[in-house]
Amino acid sequence: MSILIDLRSVTTEGVGASLTIEGSVPPAAVKADCASDAGEAVKAAADATSADSGLSHLRLGDIDFLAVDPIRYEISFSNVGECVHAAGTLQTQLRTACVRCLNDFEFDLASTVDESFFFVPSEDEHGDPYPVIDDSGKVDIEPLLRESLLVELPFASVCDSDCQGLCMKCGTDLNGADCECTDEVDANHPFAGLKDLMQ
Ligand SMILES: [Zn+2]
Ligand SMILES: [Zn+2]
Repeated sequence: MSILIDLRSVTTEGVGASLTIEGSVPPAAVKADCASDAGEAVKAAADATSADSGLSHLRLGDIDFLAVDPIRYEISFSNVGECVHAAGTLQTQLRTACVRCLNDFEFDLASTVDESFFFVPSEDEHGDPYPVIDDSGKVDIEPLLRESLLVELPFASVCDSDCQGLCMKCGTDLNGADCECTDEVDANHPFAGLKDLMQ
């Protein structure tokens, strides 16, 4: 899915010409009434859309992130001679599953955009090619927005820094309930079964 921006006014007017654009990408289709289902809404919507089909569904490792708000961006393009520099901001709200308790939760994400579109093929200091403005004068900002979102995604998303997670033995969500498991009982201990017999 390309997001093409026409930069002809910036490229033809010469050095100093600039253009500021605003736009938004629609959020992923997630049913609002699924919001409280443990991990189900994100999984269902993630299954329905490929991670490559748009910006509203991102994947980091095997963790899915869905935009539940439009992805709003504002970018200024400036002709600086050898290239057109793009600088801007974007923001949205994402939903993902907590790595400790597996419940869905939402969080705000803001990021910045910083890229250069060159008139002739050029490489950065690592030998990676810069995007090029072709004869049409249009550039695709989708890769730019995607990169900007990906760099801000958390590696281990937790719904709350105090999240207690799930019991390792019985799976109870320890945020709202206690379970009967105790750390002292080793399931392999010869007398482990006695605890159950005596209840
Ligand atoms: Zn949690
Ligand atoms: Zn337990």
